[in-house]
Amino acid sequence: MENVVIVGAGISGLTAAIYAARANLKPLVIAGKEEGGQLMLTTDVENYPGFPEGVLGPVLVTKCKEQAKRFGTRFMDGNVEAFSVKAEGGENTYELSVEGEKIEARTVIIATGASARMLGLESEMKYFNRGVHTCATCDGPLYGGKDVIVVGGGDSACQESLFLAGIARSVTIIHRRDEFKASKIMQERVLDNNRIKVVWNTAVEEILGENRKVTGMRIKNTNDGSTTEIKAHAVFLAIGHTPNTAAFKGVLKLDENGYLVADQRMRTSLPGVFAAGDAQDKVYRQAITAAGTGCMAALEAERYLQRAESIDL
Ligand code: NDP
Repeated sequence: MENVVIVGAGISGLTAAIYAARANLKPLVIAGKEEGGQLMLTTDVENYPGFPEGVLGPVLVTKCKEQAKRFGTRFMDGNVEAFSVKAEGGENTYELSVEGEKIEARTVIIATGASARMLGLESEMKYFNRGVHTCATCDGPLYGGKDVIVVGGGDSACQESLFLAGIARSVTIIHRRDEFKASKIMQERVLDNNRIKVVWNTAVEEILGENRKVTGMRIKNTNDGSTTEIKAHAVFLAIGHTPNTAAFKGVLKLDENGYLVADQRMRTSLPGVFAAGDAQDKVYRQAITAAGTGCMAALEAERYLQRAESIDL
């Protein structure tokens, strides 16, 4: 029986592992197939405290993994395919299936992250991180004084556009409908900002580039089918995220978008099961907030185990 199983090896899961390992709980991290999470897909991380020169996302994750290992964290490859309550009562226990293997745990920290939704174009992958980005807070500052495009019409698209409007020379929002999905207040802020232009009823046909850099976009008017090319130095996709929580559906409480529901102490709907990072966060989605909630989840798991121990005695 494991004390703490941490599902996910992004910065949130690894931070949880560092704390749980230093508490001598000998955590087991189930690292998934694409270990390292979203930071593995980024280049320079310039907003993580402690790195005045910036740090490469994969370097930051690798260092966190070394730190977790140093205190005795064990790692296992593979994805959690099923999750269930094994025993209920004074102290629940949980069972996780990982590629046919069954693991039993007294506490579980779910830090499976979320994946940014993509348009499904070959060109967006070709220029990914070379002008195509999915996080304005992370990569927006690279485009000071430049022209940028934001795709989407929800709160994220509005929030990212407002952030970019403080940095870029111009921001053009491309939205497929004639009205925003975003909350009224966000819509008003965007429409009142004279650096932001909205192009309605428009789909992205292709992201254009030259010499490994984005140069613009070919867009299509959804009413009359006409196409136009617009120039830009970068494209920020803000068409939503998909939390990686499918394995927990039906067992843990998820919100209408599939995010794990957790309280301020990272507790999910089941005792001893905690959530951390982007799998439970649709607002901040930052490396530092993911690390922070990973720390909180591990401290809560430790407290939960201590209490369970005293009940046993
Ligand atoms: P949403 O799912 O709310 O919005 C996604 C937007 O992208 C929609 O406008 C949608 O168009 C568009 N879109 C989706 N797929 C495509 C596609 N293939 N091509 C073109 N456009 C597409 O995602 P968000 O990330 O904006 O928000 C997720 C949740 O997080 C929401 O509940 C939101 O309120 C919340 N949030 C809150 C914030 C805050 O409180 N400050 C900040 C950010 C998010 P369409 O409108 O046609 O469906």
